Amino acid sequence: MALAGPDVKLTDDQIALIDAVRDFARGELLPLDRKWDEDESSVAEVLPQLAEMGLMNLVIPEDYGGLGCDYCTYASIIHEIAYASPSAAVTLSVHNMVGKILAANSNNDEKIQWVREWGTPGSFAAFALSEANAGSDAAAVSTKIVEDDEGFWLTGEKMWITNGMHARWFLTLGRLEGAPKGEDLVAIWVDGNESGISRDKICGKMGIRGSETAVIAFDNVFAPKANLIGERGDGLKVFLSTLNEGRIGIAAQACGIAEAAFDEMVSYAKQREQFGKPIGKFQSISNMVADSAVELAAAKLLIWEAAMGVDEKRLAPLAASMAKLYATEAANTIADRAVQIHGGSGYVREFRVEQLYRDARVTTIYEGTSEVQRIVIAREYLGRL
Ligand SMILES: Cc1cc2nc3c(=O)[nH]c(=O)nc-3n(C[C@H](O)[C@H](O)[C@H](O)COP(=O)(O)OP(=O)(O)OC[C@H]3O[C@@H](n4cnc5c(N)ncnc54)[C@H](O)[C@@H]3O)c2cc1C
Repeated sequence: MALAGPDVKLTDDQIALIDAVRDFARGELLPLDRKWDEDESSVAEVLPQLAEMGLMNLVIPEDYGGLGCDYCTYASIIHEIAYASPSAAVTLSVHNMVGKILAANSNNDEKIQWVREWGTPGSFAAFALSEANAGSDAAAVSTKIVEDDEGFWLTGEKMWITNGMHARWFLTLGRLEGAPKGEDLVAIWVDGNESGISRDKICGKMGIRGSETAVIAFDNVFAPKANLIGERGDGLKVFLSTLNEGRIGIAAQACGIAEAAFDEMVSYAKQREQFGKPIGKFQSISNMVADSAVELAAAKLLIWEAAMGVDEKRLAPLAASMAKLYATEAANTIADRAVQIHGGSGYVREFRVEQLYRDARVTTIYEGTSEVQRIVIAREYLGRL
């Protein structure tokens, strides 16, 4: 079922794109996703196909050769991809959000050229914010940036970087040496081909094992002046400029996982028989199906409301946090129920619910934990006490 409800009016073009993505994801990505989970290999092997479908260029304006998707369509696409491959969904979500930041800050020829090339596998990008001691507290980053006449020199270590093993570009947050405290955070566009960069794959993840996660070490890595994104001192603002969109993207990813788990639970509940009847006839099982159906529908409505807020240029931190909190928690609950309904079969790799249960887990952690979303939501009502 699509992310949009039956009464939502989408254009024929939007519907055609979402349908094409659904067919591609379920036909091509699903079997690969099972393999990526098994051997911890990377989604990066399908970058050429993703690029060909336009999926690496979703939010770049049409003037620059992108698809110029509105955010409702974008969220629907991430949802369809996540239904088949939660790993591919987060890979694309991060790449597209970095592209959106670049496009919004392209104030010179170099940046405009990178935006024009955005839809190609060679433009693959990462969002390098987190560090060992800077997670929820993003402003605590310690990557050092020294500026001289030539440009910027970066030294530090970034943790948990999605797309980190193959990314050509790293949007990187660091502290400018010599700048006054509070005005020293700077966003730099780092070319992954520069010398001094080392990439270490983080292995042994619980879920989304096809999505690359890496530690990126910068040892006096150079970036020309033209690679400054935004103004000196506005680094965190640049990074947080797509926060709402990013959170809606992860909510859509979680919703895709939840929908896949829901479909698996329904099909198993109809087909598995115990005591001479399908287990779906037992009220404790049908209650789990009913509760999951309601939560899935509620998650979709919250995501849709938040995505419409972005499209209509209504600032939507509350809606984005509500959608992210609710959809990601619901995905975990629904995947857990799907495992329970499968009994012993839900506990082994052969059945997809085992993977969906693991894949769902990270969604309440990245792009702001559930605890952080609750802080954002409560602050709307309580203010900063
Ligand atoms: C698979 C994966 C991919 C990721 N990809 C990226 C990426 O591409 N780029 C990137 O920059 N980062 C990425 N991250 C990092 C992710 O954003 C952080 O893990 C997340 O923000 C939480 O930070 P932390 O792990 O340091 O946990 P911490 O911030 O240390 O939090 C630990 C616990 O304390 C709680 N907590 C923290 N502060 C508060 C508070 N004020 N009030 C109440 N509770 C609080 C948290 O909710 C959590 O439960 C990724 C992480 C993972 C696991």
